[in-house]
Amino acid sequence: MRSSSTAADFLRNRHSEFFYDWLLAGVAAAEDDRTSGMKAFSPFYPEEISDAFGVLELEEAVERILKAVPAPVAETVPLMEAHGRVAVEPILSPVDLPLFDNSAMDGYAVRAGDVAAASPEQSVELEIAGRIEAGQTFDAKIGTGQCARVFTGSPLPAGTDAVVMQEDTRTKADRPNRVFVTDAVKPWENVRLRGEDVRAGTALIEAGNVLTIGRLNLLGATGLATVKVGQQPKAGLLATGSELIEPGQERKPGQIYESNRLGLATLISKAGGVARVFPLVPDNLESTQEAIEKAFEECDILVTSGGVSVGELDFVKEAFEQSGGKLEFWKVAIKPGRPFVYGQRKGKFLFGLPGNPVSALVTFLLLVRPALLRWQGAIETGLPVSRGELAEVLNNRGSRRHFMRVRMGADGKVYSAGTQASHILSSLAAANGLVDVPADAVLPAGTSVRVLRWD
Ligand code: AMP
Ligand code: MG
Repeated sequence: MRSSSTAADFLRNRHSEFFYDWLLAGVAAAEDDRTSGMKAFSPFYPEEISDAFGVLELEEAVERILKAVPAPVAETVPLMEAHGRVAVEPILSPVDLPLFDNSAMDGYAVRAGDVAAASPEQSVELEIAGRIEAGQTFDAKIGTGQCARVFTGSPLPAGTDAVVMQEDTRTKADRPNRVFVTDAVKPWENVRLRGEDVRAGTALIEAGNVLTIGRLNLLGATGLATVKVGQQPKAGLLATGSELIEPGQERKPGQIYESNRLGLATLISKAGGVARVFPLVPDNLESTQEAIEKAFEECDILVTSGGVSVGELDFVKEAFEQSGGKLEFWKVAIKPGRPFVYGQRKGKFLFGLPGNPVSALVTFLLLVRPALLRWQGAIETGLPVSRGELAEVLNNRGSRRHFMRVRMGADGKVYSAGTQASHILSSLAAANGLVDVPADAVLPAGTSVRVLRWD
């Protein structure tokens, strides 16, 4: 039991939840700003001042990162293992699809002209000259007054130009090898034509396409067994912070459970990277530098969390530079998420994410995920987007774009996922998307919004 109430308790009791949210957002922003060495935004201290120097727009930051990513290194993988990988070259179809004219139905391959007058009252009698199961062939030609028993996928025999479905025929026990057609068919009805889907020589996919399930089906249907894809980056994860302990460990006062690597490792794999999780790093220069150097020995891309602000205990930037790395920038005008560090070391990349869990996740999605995808050669590096409609107002009082946590229902209605401060995990858990709310903007209920998705 607490003996005295906190400032937050005080405010919660005396003001609406909205005001509390607003104040918390201010406090979180102030934290962000403090950590990037700028004047704090608070409800009482305008944020504009802090955005005035050295801050990159998100798009510019992403572009600068993507430009620096090396061309993909190709490797050949079986199609069966290629889902989510990125093709590094266009693939032209070696064959027509369908491969040959074939039946779309169980029925009888006929000459359409023979049954033009068929009706239930006046059926047309045909001789069954053969039977062709899917996978079989038929060498003879079907002549006038004849037909062939066929099934879905059976090659269409020479001489025929349509298939009468079984339901439009009758057979008689005393007339074997005869069928009575009770409905007419047009030429090429119920026939799947060779090449109507894909012509040999046309592009099945382009270089830079991610191999989705549908694309894999298409490639497989043409007989290809392997595909050339971009190598996957090995991405290391380092969490810094002397306060951090591994989940499951016994906790001493003041310590907290490390939780950032969990989500980040999953997101790395989802973006096609191979995640390598390293031990926790305490806040001192030697440990941080040692951990960074060791991780770079095994990884192409190193993702750190925490320790990138200007506090006395933030060592990632210094340790990275000490280890021979070159910092490119460390401020991006988004919320949550400042500060953010990006640097290069011998053709490899460092991404230093803020430690606040929501900031770490959002900066990863917006700035690191694109690099992982481009590393493999992907053209498209943005998050998947769904269109939705705000069911309630989204309010950004700050002067930075705010990627707000939202929950979008199957009906396309979009709700705030809850309190938006960057240490609040319950709203992260409730969220299934982010809405990019411009600075100083109020998006009223009913606004059509783009929801960035990650799950
Ligand atoms: P920092 O960016 O290191 O100043 O950390 C900002 C806040 O995030 C602090 O409250 C940290 O304790 C917290 N934090 C940092 N890293 C982690 C982590 N890996 N898991 C959970 N919380 C973290
Ligand atoms: Mg820290």
